[in-house]
Formats: sequence, structure tokens, C-alpha cells
Amino acid sequence: MTTKPTLTLTALMNRFATEDACKQFLQDKRWPNGVHCPRCQSEKVYALKARPFHWVCKQARCGGRNGYRFSVITKTVFENTNYPLRTWFQVIYLMTQSKKGISALQIHRQIGSGDYRTAWYMCHRIRAAMKDTTFPKLMGEVEVDETFIGGSDKNRHWSKKKHNAKEGQKATVIGAISRKGNVVCQLIENTDRLTLSQFVKKTVADKVSLVATDEAPGYSRLSQSYPHAVVNHAKHEYVRGNIHTNNLESFWSLLKRGVVGTFHNVSKAYLPLYLAEFSFRHNNRTDPNIFEAVVAGC
Ligand SMILES: [Zn+2]
Repeated sequence: MTTKPTLTLTALMNRFATEDACKQFLQDKRWPNGVHCPRCQSEKVYALKARPFHWVCKQARCGGRNGYRFSVITKTVFENTNYPLRTWFQVIYLMTQSKKGISALQIHRQIGSGDYRTAWYMCHRIRAAMKDTTFPKLMGEVEVDETFIGGSDKNRHWSKKKHNAKEGQKATVIGAISRKGNVVCQLIENTDRLTLSQFVKKTVADKVSLVATDEAPGYSRLSQSYPHAVVNHAKHEYVRGNIHTNNLESFWSLLKRGVVGTFHNVSKAYLPLYLAEFSFRHNNRTDPNIFEAVVAGC
């Protein structure tokens, strides 16, 4: 199924034709109920006449009469960069529109940033803004599974091999998905029972109709707290009625194609950022305002 994006790149560039248009949009997203001091949260702030989108807070805890000055980008991911908001908005747009993810190199080519590292840096800061910190627990029928990503020396040319056991290791990622709903995933250090059950407790609501996993021993005690059912992957059983982990498998395959194909293997240190990006896109897949959601998270 192909759907036309609700916002084309041309429409985006027309809508945000000037820096002021971008700043106004950011101000409205950031402070829908009026500007607040980012340091003390006071609503009593004064606009600086000579400097649009700048304010001063004169609360005692913000320095009193001399006050604390801030702008619309203070304490956002856009702070301390020399790049105009117009460029940032284009990068956010490209990242939200591409299902498999878009590499920093592709972004670099599309926005014509002077330096590839600029695009790389912007992408990482946007990924950090996509981190979902307050997700509701998963409901309904939930699938839980682990997967292993990247890191293997096996398929690499010898010159690219790490020749180092630790760096060459694959990363283990655990995920939970509510069928027709959200996905949550994170990097884990091992697959013991404590790690797996803590993840399930943290992400899955108490009253769900099903928790489907494979036969990994780490899940064996889930049936004490959940309606738990198992498919035996080792015995090549993948589906038994509604007991399967196919939705999570689809998400893993998209993530892996993205990580290997688009990003040409991702170092373990950055993997959590890519997990945030892919989860965010999945969880906002039906939201026509996904672009705005990212800007609001920045
Ligand atoms: Zn203040």
C-alpha cells in the first residue's frame, strides 16, 4: 500500500520559508499555553523588544533584576548549532518520511550540508528527541522476543573485521509489541530470566489477553503473572492459532534492513538511538502529524 505523504518536501519548505516561520512554529509547539522560563518554569517572562523570540525571566531564582535570558531554542536539540531551523526541519522531515530510515549521507546529499558530519550530528540529536520516555504499558495481545543485531565479523571482508572479540559481538535487543499497537525495545546485556522478566514487567500492562513468546527459558515463569503462551521455534513451530511473534518479527526485519542496509552496521553505542528512531516511526505510523510530533519532542 502506498499513501501520499500529507506533507510534501515542497509544501514543507513553503510553509517554513523563513527562519521566523520556523521559530514561530517551534514556539507554539513548545509553549502551547504561553512562554515559560526553561530554567524555573515561571510564566512571568518579558519579551525582549529588540530581539524577536528572546525573553528574560526576572524571578529571584533566575537572577532577579538582571534576569535570565533565553530564546525559543534554549534547552532544545537545536541549541548551540550554527544550523538554521529550516535545515533542521528538512532533516526531521526526511527522517520521518522514510520507513527504513535514511542515512546521514543521503541527508547530507539532499540538504547540501557543507560537511557530512553535520548531517550525522543532526540525525543523532533528532533520534535522541524521538526517545519515548513516558509510554503507556502495552495492552491486548502482546508479543515479546529478542533479536541479535550487527557486530558479527562473519560476513565482513577481513580488512573490515574488528579482530576483537568484544567489538565483534552482536548486540542483543529485546522488544515487546502490542498487536495493532505500539512497540517498545531496548538493548540488553544478557538473556537471563531476571533481565527478560524485568523488561516484560516494565513494558506490559498487568491485564493483557495474551503474552506470546518463544520457548526461551528466560520466559518460563511469565505464566505466573500473565496469560502466557509459547511457540517452539526450535521445533520449527512458528504459528499456533493466535500464538506467534510475527508482528515483532516484521519490526525486527525492518530494523535490520535499516541498520545493515541504510546505516551499514551501527556501533553498539549508537544502537539505542536507532531503536528509538525505528520505534518512534512505528508508534506514530498512522499519525499524519508525525513531523510536528518530532519537533515537539526536540
Ligand atoms: Zn526563570
